Amino acid sequence: MERLTVLQDKPQDHCGIFGAGLCPGQDAAPLLYEGLFALQHRGQESAGIAAAQGGRIGVYKDVGLVTQAIPRAALDALTGNMAIGHVRYSTTGRPTRDNAQPLVVRMQGGGMLAVAHNGNLSNAQQVKARMQQEGIPFETQSDTEVIALGIAREIARGLPPEEAVRTAMQAWEGSYSLVILTQDTLLAVRDPLGIRPLCMGRKEGRVVFASESCALTATGCTFERDIRPGEIVQALPDGSIRTLEAATAKRTALCSFEPIYFARPDSIIDGQSVYHSRFLAGAELAHAYPVEADLVAGVPDSGLIAALGYAKASGIPYGDVLNKNRYVGRTFIQPNPQDRTRGVRLKLSPIPQNVAGKRIVLIDDSIVRGTTITQLVALLRRAGALQVHIRIASPPFLHPCLYGIDVPTGGQLVAAHVAPDTLAASIGADSLGFLPLGRLKAIAPDCRLDFCDACFSGRYPYPIRCDNQAESCHCHPQP
Ligand code: AMP
Repeated sequence: MERLTVLQDKPQDHCGIFGAGLCPGQDAAPLLYEGLFALQHRGQESAGIAAAQGGRIGVYKDVGLVTQAIPRAALDALTGNMAIGHVRYSTTGRPTRDNAQPLVVRMQGGGMLAVAHNGNLSNAQQVKARMQQEGIPFETQSDTEVIALGIAREIARGLPPEEAVRTAMQAWEGSYSLVILTQDTLLAVRDPLGIRPLCMGRKEGRVVFASESCALTATGCTFERDIRPGEIVQALPDGSIRTLEAATAKRTALCSFEPIYFARPDSIIDGQSVYHSRFLAGAELAHAYPVEADLVAGVPDSGLIAALGYAKASGIPYGDVLNKNRYVGRTFIQPNPQDRTRGVRLKLSPIPQNVAGKRIVLIDDSIVRGTTITQLVALLRRAGALQVHIRIASPPFLHPCLYGIDVPTGGQLVAAHVAPDTLAASIGADSLGFLPLGRLKAIAPDCRLDFCDACFSGRYPYPIRCDNQAESCHCHPQP
């Protein structure tokens, strides 16, 4: 199989995907551009669009935000009524064009296949090794290549694309929400546990797919429904769909970090409003860790809604204590601690009149390495806060994520190393409270799926594969 532009140096992470199959004669790329723009929060490293027309697939992708990566001229050149797109979240801190998606492969017989993937195949190495034994050549370390070549292999064996996906899926473990394009078919796929979100909508009666419902609303599409875990949906030329139930799992496992941090608050995922989840998380914290204070505030932007929930449930007034400089990029992925620390200082500054002489409850969505919160406590104290009580709208982060959330290796997770009763002191806070793990489900009362809480509980939905790549290794990832 000949590769086009598919070099990727690492497994895929947390990304955003969009797909559209419009009426014949209408170009889908402009809609894709807007859809990806609405999913920008899911990935800022690179963006790309692939469109099918006239028996071929054209692709354009580059580094940067959607508006930087895809110039007007490139968009105009992407003709065709079916298209898929991708925004990529990087963990390397080194954006490259080669890592961008959609990934396009040329199949035996000359057909083309484009794939945009959100998630992480946790058994990619095992599947790849088996495919290599069959003589399938790989050029990258990317799990998306495992997916694309796995589907291409089944198409080469004579299966139609939707059946090819169903067959290839049987080998995959981990998280994958996909939009897939051949010259004449558009498909959307969600892994059997539903780890990453994916939904479907309509534009003038035609089918569109998006990681989150916010991208449907923003592009003037109507939301129809979520793609079910294990479902393959094929958009047919007349606007109808054909669905295949690919694989059924005994349970579902939507990533709990989607409502906690990653998704946009105006999205509804599997029936659950993300905004409402965050509000409820704040209310849960108020019940679990009440405290006497003058003001409840959130860390912008990730803690603001939970802070509203805490304020409402506790009766303590809500106010802003931090200003966010919106032009500073993400500090989280800076490779060294000094840069992360400087980044937080440049990004967040105290609002002195709301801080001086006050007992403050400060809410953030999570503590990972502890960099952000330690600095913010010090910053508020320097600005004259009398007390700083930290409340975190998720349980302690104790285990690495294997399914696409960018968290450092276990060794850097502060809550895994510092005992709970000394963690408050270590971050310099007067008190500290995390959302109790047992209350996680309470923040998503309307969600139709169960949560994956492996990063908090260590209970992974698939067997853990260790570095020796043994077929059924159950090693626990060491914190
Ligand atoms: P840390 O400073 O390492 O403790 O990280 C916690 C902060 O980073 C919180 O303010 C979160 O909102 C944010 N955060 C948590 N997880 C992620 C992630 N996977 N990617 C980017 N930011 C994150």
